[in-house]
Amino acid sequence: MSFMHELGITRNIIAIAIEHSQGAKVKKVVVEIGKLAAILPDAIRFCFEACAKDTPLEHSILEIREIPGLAYCNQCKTRISLSQPFGICNCGSSQLEIIQGQELQVKELELEEQCV
Ligand SMILES: [Zn+2]
Repeated sequence: MSFMHELGITRNIIAIAIEHSQGAKVKKVVVEIGKLAAILPDAIRFCFEACAKDTPLEHSILEIREIPGLAYCNQCKTRISLSQPFGICNCGSSQLEIIQGQELQVKELELEEQCV
C-alpha cells in the first residue's frame, strides 16, 4: 500500500505548524480532516512520526478530528449526512451541495513553554 498522497499532506501539515510555531517546539497539533476529503487519517498518523523527525514537531502529539460529511439537498431542502463525496437524498435527488466534510486544516497548536 502506498501513502504518497497522505505523505504530501502530512508534509504540508508539518510545514504549516512550523511556520506558526516560529521556532518553538510543538507539543501537540490538532488537525481537522473531513470524512469527504479523501484522506486516510491512519495514513497521516503513519507518516507523521517520520515526517516530524528533526523538526520542531518531533515527539509531538498528532490529534486528528474527523468532521462528518453533510450535504444540503436542493430538491427537498433538507440536510443529509454523507459518507462519501457524492450521494442520493432520500427524496431521490442527487442535487446535493456538500456543506461539511471536506475540511483539511491545522486547527490548533500547543507549544512548549519557553524560558525567556
Ligand atoms: Zn432531498
